[in-house]
Amino acid sequence: MILSGMTLDELENLMAEMKATKFRAKQIHNWIYSKSVSSIDEMTNLSKDFREELKNIASVTDTKIKVKQVSKDGTIKYLVEYPDGECVETVLMRFDNRANLTACVSSQVGCAVNCSFCATGKGGFKRNLTYKEIIEQVLTIQRDTGLKVTNIVFMGQGEPLLNLDNVLKALDIFNNDFQIGQRRITISTSGIIPGIERLANTDLQSTLAISLHAPNHELRKELMPIENKYKIDEVKKALMNYIEKTGRRVTVEYILIHGFNDTTQVAKELAYFLHDLKCNVNLIPYNSVIENDYKKPSSNDIMKFKYLIEHSGKKVTVRLERGADIDAACGQLRGKGENVVKGVKGVKGVV
Ligand code: SAH
Ligand code: SF4
Repeated sequence: MILSGMTLDELENLMAEMKATKFRAKQIHNWIYSKSVSSIDEMTNLSKDFREELKNIASVTDTKIKVKQVSKDGTIKYLVEYPDGECVETVLMRFDNRANLTACVSSQVGCAVNCSFCATGKGGFKRNLTYKEIIEQVLTIQRDTGLKVTNIVFMGQGEPLLNLDNVLKALDIFNNDFQIGQRRITISTSGIIPGIERLANTDLQSTLAISLHAPNHELRKELMPIENKYKIDEVKKALMNYIEKTGRRVTVEYILIHGFNDTTQVAKELAYFLHDLKCNVNLIPYNSVIENDYKKPSSNDIMKFKYLIEHSGKKVTVRLERGADIDAACGQLRGKGENVVKGVKGVKGVV
């Protein structure tokens, strides 16, 4: 049995089976989620006999770090390996001016959506992650760095709304067991309408981010095959309904690709498309991925685009590129550890 991912209730049931007190469950819970230990032996406030008894039936984790890379900007990328040999990448980002430690987690092995600009989709879809496998990514980061993650973004590999049961269960555990506030968690989707509709009917306080990337059907379908199934106007309707039901503002993510969707004309069209949508806009300058010929716009073009959207009354941020030297930036996650030569491996406690 694996203790990571167990809730306090589940640990209490386990303690009852072992004829131990409820207080033991609290202690174990604390070792797992706050102190982030890797082994039962480290749970030093449990008696040696009890630890031995527990070790006979359980261990803390079954997830391994296969590769660890540290970027010169402090970003750390882990390739984590699950017992069946499948791997995903998870990224820890730290911003100099903030105390926040943000984990970018994966929700699936690979991705079926296959956007033209993204490395994850290139390898196809393998399988969904279980909620325990999702939370193991954050525990891996905490165990390795000795630090507590404060924010989570579902922006790693995979499409979270195509694995929503596990994502919602993981969210519960992040919230109740890791004590990470729902508002510090963001779920990013390529626009899976049934998932958006389902989220509209929860009382979740987390932010929904929508990967829009284009203001119309023609342009969007060149980037995202999912546009053929869930069309931009229908996605907008689903978002309007989500906003009305939850009262929450959404984040619109928009990749800027030089000469493709970054022109003045497209900016104006985007501003119009968004005018009645309660949203903030996050511009993501394209990060290079070997499989395509897209280019990042110049800083000047980025600023011009930003200005045009701001001018229409939206709050706009430009996403800082993190960890590009170790292929840890948005869209660069492959889950295969192929790019290890560029990074520094095995440096512990660097953050
Ligand atoms: N599947 C979800 C979440 C993971 S991707 C989604 O698509 O929203 C997280 C963000 O990174 C998305 O906005 C995605 O469009 C963006 N992204 C993917 N490839 C990128 C690239 N090459 N450069 C910049 N951003 C990229
Ligand atoms: Fe999948 Fe998101 Fe990458 Fe598109 S951008 S292929 S939805 S992970």
